[in-house]
Amino acid sequence: MADLLVPRGAAPARADGRFAPSPTGTLHLGNLRTALLAWLFARAADARFLVRIEDLDTGRVRERFAAEQLADLTALGLDHDGDVTRQSERTALYDAAVARLEGLGIVYRCWCTRAEIREAASAPHDGLPEGAYPGTCRDLPARRVADHEASGRPPALRVRADAAAERFTDRLRGPVTGVVDDFVIRRNDGAYAYNLAVVVDDGDQRIGEVVRGADLLDSTPRQRWLQRRLGLPHPGYAHVPLLLGDGGRRLAKRDGATTLAECRAAGRSAVQVRGELAASVGLARTGEAPPIEELVTRARDLLHSEVPA
Ligand code: GLU
Repeated sequence: MADLLVPRGAAPARADGRFAPSPTGTLHLGNLRTALLAWLFARAADARFLVRIEDLDTGRVRERFAAEQLADLTALGLDHDGDVTRQSERTALYDAAVARLEGLGIVYRCWCTRAEIREAASAPHDGLPEGAYPGTCRDLPARRVADHEASGRPPALRVRADAAAERFTDRLRGPVTGVVDDFVIRRNDGAYAYNLAVVVDDGDQRIGEVVRGADLLDSTPRQRWLQRRLGLPHPGYAHVPLLLGDGGRRLAKRDGATTLAECRAAGRSAVQVRGELAASVGLARTGEAPPIEELVTRARDLLHSEVPA
């Protein structure tokens, strides 16, 4: 595990970081390890660290989860700069971004149902990865558009990405290439999509390095594509490995205590849990619970070591 934080790409010029949880559940230890790493990356570079609550999915968001997530970060000693921001209070920025993309003529309406997308995406399409949207609604004849409009069913908004190839160097994973499909920027229930909001916010908040779970790596080509369309700088990226349960599966209940509250109920303090998370990435020895300043020093040594050629 000790090579988990070995840099395979250069450090970004600016390192201001963030943690951006969605308040749709309790953070598990994997999420908390990602938060700890995002914090350490920023603090090891003497940079700002922001917290942003990604609460646009109103059907799934619960205020009590947001409060609990912030309390967990505090308990682990992960402080932040400025006020916590909430995406639900920033929709004017997303409106403006969509208007800008519409002005570029690269937005279209999509009436596909989930089932239609699943079916279409499972068939092979030239140059697009499996699961990508194949562009069904991209150039609909006027007659079909009129039918859809008459149906009264609201459309989602997608961008024309023309299966653009996107290449970048991830700080931890090295060179990454991805193909960008026509992704959704506003859902058909009117909610702004994650990829749009995250790009607008990372740009507006001047995030220099996005440190997040490897499960989001596939979204990064889309986000970089969007940054260029919106005239925003590219932040650096470091996708950290997910903490796995027994046998390499996703962390689950059968792995025992998976949340901070459960660990505490089992008699471990937040500082001990932080030590365990640090040990799992090679920043502490098993059973050791170093003070947070010591973790910053160790992270600095690792992250600012030579990038192997
Ligand atoms: N809100 C996203 C999540 O909780 C993370 C967004 C990001 O870090 O880019 O999965």
